[in-house]
Amino acid sequence: MTPQPHSAAGAAVKAADRAHVFHSWSAQELIDPLAVAGAEGSYFWDYDGNRYLDFTSGLVFTNIGYQHPKVVAAIQEQAATLSTFAPAFAVEARSEAARLIAERTPGDLDKIFFTNGGADAVEHAVRMARLHTGRPKVLSAYRSYHGGTQQAINLSGDPRRWANDSGAAGVVHFWAPFLYRSRFYAETEEQECARALEHLESTIVFEGPATIAAIVLETIPGTAGIMVPPPGYLAGVRRLCDTYGIVFVLDEVMAGFGRTGEWFAADLFDVVPDLMTFAKGVNSGYVPLGGVAICGEIAETFGKRPYPGGLTYSGHPLACAAAVATIGVMAEEGVVEHAARLGAEVVGPALRELAERHPCVGEVRGVGMFWALDLVRNKETREPLVPYNAAGEANAPMAAFAAAAKAGGVWPFVNMNRTHVVPPCNVNEEELKAGLAALDAALSVADEHT
Ligand code: PMP
Repeated sequence: MTPQPHSAAGAAVKAADRAHVFHSWSAQELIDPLAVAGAEGSYFWDYDGNRYLDFTSGLVFTNIGYQHPKVVAAIQEQAATLSTFAPAFAVEARSEAARLIAERTPGDLDKIFFTNGGADAVEHAVRMARLHTGRPKVLSAYRSYHGGTQQAINLSGDPRRWANDSGAAGVVHFWAPFLYRSRFYAETEEQECARALEHLESTIVFEGPATIAAIVLETIPGTAGIMVPPPGYLAGVRRLCDTYGIVFVLDEVMAGFGRTGEWFAADLFDVVPDLMTFAKGVNSGYVPLGGVAICGEIAETFGKRPYPGGLTYSGHPLACAAAVATIGVMAEEGVVEHAARLGAEVVGPALRELAERHPCVGEVRGVGMFWALDLVRNKETREPLVPYNAAGEANAPMAAFAAAAKAGGVWPFVNMNRTHVVPPCNVNEEELKAGLAALDAALSVADEHT
């Protein structure tokens, strides 16, 4: 790997990183992390003055971009007044964050359990569902990601689970709908939806409904490919949960807080789960925060009986102050509406136009500021541009695409044979268009591998 030229300051940052930081999901000697000198709005830059439009929003969390002055000021003010306090106390920032979140979550998801991020939110949602129902099993989808802690990775249905899971007790995977690569031999969305629901119901029946505590689904599976479910699917899952007394958990860690052009992706489908996990966009990731929004009935289960779980930093005041400020910015600046409009008027049409011109673009999927391009070797066969979970040489086409995007000033999100277009939800329209033009050029590089 060719090391990137760095100024002295950047080189020092990088040297200390290489000497002492152990990076997640990586072979330590094979990575070459960029030394980041700063970030603002939708951009970040290195020590050599290279500036990138962030088409990844970090890990899809900077929903209002970097260094928003109101959020930075709120964190500073909270640090100056009450920088930390244990979770058993009522603290203004925590109460206010919970109120603002509960006001926006659908239905009666009115109680908020705070965590440090998304994976532990999923852990707690599953624990609540098991305790509430007294049942052991949890159903989750292949092609999903729910986090890196033990229960959350066991539930996940992507290759990151393989090395971490020797068959977790009580976890059963099923296929959620995805017409482009249908497991159900479906040719229309209606067929895909009906057959996916029939498959889920028979899974429930054959597993034994009285053994199933919860069905956990990402409202729109994110990391696994932004697969917007067909109309009626989530409502169908809701009905199955009601029929069989199963807790419906929607994971909105990635799709929540404006990403889809609604406060929550559940709003797109008019569906109300029993538990909903969130993290990332809740405070644009300025301070780690996640949580579970809990419906009235499950909250009541733990009314007189203690909930046996908690975290030292649950509802940390700095994180909650950042959430209060972020939600305030989103409301005042119309960020959710902006994401919906740019998704419908700019990103969707531009990506569909790219799909017409580029042989490598097999399918365009998405909504709001949440889009994926499924890259293929052959549009007819839909053979992915790189094999499933490709590494090293096998991944060369995606690596070449990513390098070209970066050379054009866009930092792309790349996962397997896909690139996701997930800029901050408040990205400036002209900057976004420039980024899409750079993506166009980078796709020409990927075309060479079709
Ligand atoms: N659920 C979903 C849907 C996610 O996208 C992620 C993170 N990408 C997680 C859970 C885990 O969140 P965290 O990394 O904050 O633990």
